[in-house]
Amino acid sequence: MKVKKLPANASTALKIIKIVKNCGAEAYLIGGCVRDLYLGIEPKDYDVATSLPPDEILKLFPHSNETGKSFGVVRVNDQGEEVEVATFRLDGPYSDGRRPDYVTFSSLKEDISRRDFTINALALNPDTLEIIDYVGGIDDLENGIVRTVGLPEKRFQEDRLRLIRSIRFAHRLNFKIEDETGKALTRMAQEIKTVAMERVADEFQKILLTSPAGDGIKMLDRYGLLSPILPEIIRMKGVDQPEQFHPEGDVFIHTCLALNELKPNPTKAIVWATLFHDVGKPDTFMVTDRIRFHGHAERGAEMIFDIGKRLKLSNELIERVSKIILEHQRFGDIDKMRPGRIKNWVAQPHFEELLEVHRADCAGSHRDMSAYEKATEFLNEIRQLETMPPRIITGKTLIEIGLEPGPIFKELLTAAYEAQLEDSFTNKEEGIEFVKKFMNENRNC
Ligand code: ATP
Ligand code: MG
Repeated sequence: MKVKKLPANASTALKIIKIVKNCGAEAYLIGGCVRDLYLGIEPKDYDVATSLPPDEILKLFPHSNETGKSFGVVRVNDQGEEVEVATFRLDGPYSDGRRPDYVTFSSLKEDISRRDFTINALALNPDTLEIIDYVGGIDDLENGIVRTVGLPEKRFQEDRLRLIRSIRFAHRLNFKIEDETGKALTRMAQEIKTVAMERVADEFQKILLTSPAGDGIKMLDRYGLLSPILPEIIRMKGVDQPEQFHPEGDVFIHTCLALNELKPNPTKAIVWATLFHDVGKPDTFMVTDRIRFHGHAERGAEMIFDIGKRLKLSNELIERVSKIILEHQRFGDIDKMRPGRIKNWVAQPHFEELLEVHRADCAGSHRDMSAYEKATEFLNEIRQLETMPPRIITGKTLIEIGLEPGPIFKELLTAAYEAQLEDSFTNKEEGIEFVKKFMNENRNC
């Protein structure tokens, strides 16, 4: 089986292969890039496998990153582009359920046999464009099947990260998981807990970033992988919601629908915030006149700190996601908000992501888009400004009029800026008048 031609972004990998082959060694494109080429998808990156030992690779490419050298991997850097060049290898025993204790250098055939899934175990000879397939990978690509290379139980036992990787590939390619692979996956799902969380979270995030993300979450759940990773999401199942706002069903169903509604290429903050926007609902469920979830946004915004730390997400991402969760209910009040307040809100750096989460939230439930449309109009207006107008009233102005710095400053400055954005005043004197009047009317200030 051959591919027709190689895309232009393969040129660095091809250059490296040529240099390696000039030394008399074998070298192939390998793994995910061959899978994608066969499927007609342009690979994002190319991996090379060769018979040349790492020390020899380093001699040829002295500016390489050699941190993976003991595992036979050298990252060759060519004008800022990095290509992973790995010596054919056979994995030694796995005693930690994640990485082989050592590797021995071997042949292409043995290198293929240690790879996770048949569809990821193809090699390509760039001179002939021929695909080398020792494990039935092409048939599985043709039939849309994810199947381990060799016995699933053994392969998952060796490296439990493969449990979630099987879902990632099935979701991304819209493939089915082969029966025996699927059964082993279900039996061993809880063992994902033994893998370092950042590795699991990284695969999980890749699933979330691939649309339709809600289907990915449902697939993780179907094979029993969601509960060991995110029990908080499992708790949303069976949590009823008021019919008039959520005709679609419980909180879990709604969340998956909302994720499926996201536009392509969302940011990390968007996908995590959509997944967790209602995570506070199970704790705040209450039936009064109807089902209510008082304070669920606040509860969710707080929970995400523990969850995010567990998943080893960066602090910056956690804070952003928390802010979005906290504010996702504010759209319900948009008709009661003064224009200045809306303008100040939509100008916040996280607002566009918040708006996308809100859009998906509505599209995955009642489908009333009026708040979304109103916020979008304000956002477009703000976008036309190169920068937001500078504040007429600042902390310095408040001190000048004899106020003591303290917690009220924030409230006064926000109120003044919102009024300025509504053109309630246009110069400092009028601004000071506004502040004085505001303090009189809000005596608790
Ligand atoms: P993507 O396009 O998403 O990067 P990929 O197939 O390139 O997909 P990588 O995680 O980059 O996936 O891994 C590159 C290749 O290395 C895989 O195609 C597979 O052959 C092999 N591989 C990666 N991780 C494992 C693993 N845990 N066990 C066995 N083989 C693996
Ligand atoms: Mg890759």
